[in-house]
Amino acid sequence: MATHDFSATRLFLDAALAEGLPVAATPVQANYLLNVLRLSQDDRVLVFNGRDGEWSARLDKPAKKKLDLVPERRTRAQSASADLHYLFAPLKHARLDYMVQKAVEMGAGTLQPVMTQHVQASRLNTDRMRANAIEAAEQCGILTLPDCREPVRLEALLSGWDADRRLFFCDEREDAQSPVETLRATAPGPLALLVGPEGGFSASERAMLKARPFVTVLSLGPRILRADTAAVAALALVQATLGDWTAPR
Ligand code: SAM
Repeated sequence: MATHDFSATRLFLDAALAEGLPVAATPVQANYLLNVLRLSQDDRVLVFNGRDGEWSARLDKPAKKKLDLVPERRTRAQSASADLHYLFAPLKHARLDYMVQKAVEMGAGTLQPVMTQHVQASRLNTDRMRANAIEAAEQCGILTLPDCREPVRLEALLSGWDADRRLFFCDEREDAQSPVETLRATAPGPLALLVGPEGGFSASERAMLKARPFVTVLSLGPRILRADTAAVAALALVQATLGDWTAPR
């Protein structure tokens, strides 16, 4: 069972966390805590920064327009970040926001946008991606922030690939072999997952991927899934057969 307090409000603070060391809330955080959640002086929330574990912090209002969060007690020791890499062709705004948040909830530790021939969104706002990752991390109880990387072209990604990391290529054209059998046949080791754009991969991209020894093709069944659906389905399969849904927590 998860070891953290689901009911408590959790905030990511981009600052050092230590007992008694006040951290100024950002204006957005202050508005959320004071005006949306209606919290007040001496109420407590949980805070984390990705390095110093999770802390119970007290709200302190030393001045009218100032809100500090004062860590008082460490509630969880810092854990290692997830090693699962999620690679994706950027989608249009709302679907991309959704896909980034679901990837974080499903345990992706690295988010790598990949530019392919049929990608819908030619640019990706990495600040927006990071903000979505932070929101998901606060909600789902993890203690680290995923590594949100800058977009790379598929060719460059494959040419610089660490061959020790198995790359599962979600290919809707693949004969519908059971993904569970495919995953169970995989040797233990670092993993990555690639989901294509709404327009799918081109024939040359598919050939380029299949030619790599570190690539395993993964079918997600007989129907064509939207890219954001494929993300959740594929991550669930990986976590349930090879990932942290199998290990005791
Ligand atoms: N090219 C597809 C078509 O013909 O309509 C659309 C691609 S699909 C919307 C977006 C991505 O989700 C695909 O590139 C693939 O990575 C993944 N995907 C969707 N359905 C899949 C399936 N049944 N098996 C494996 N991957 C799938």
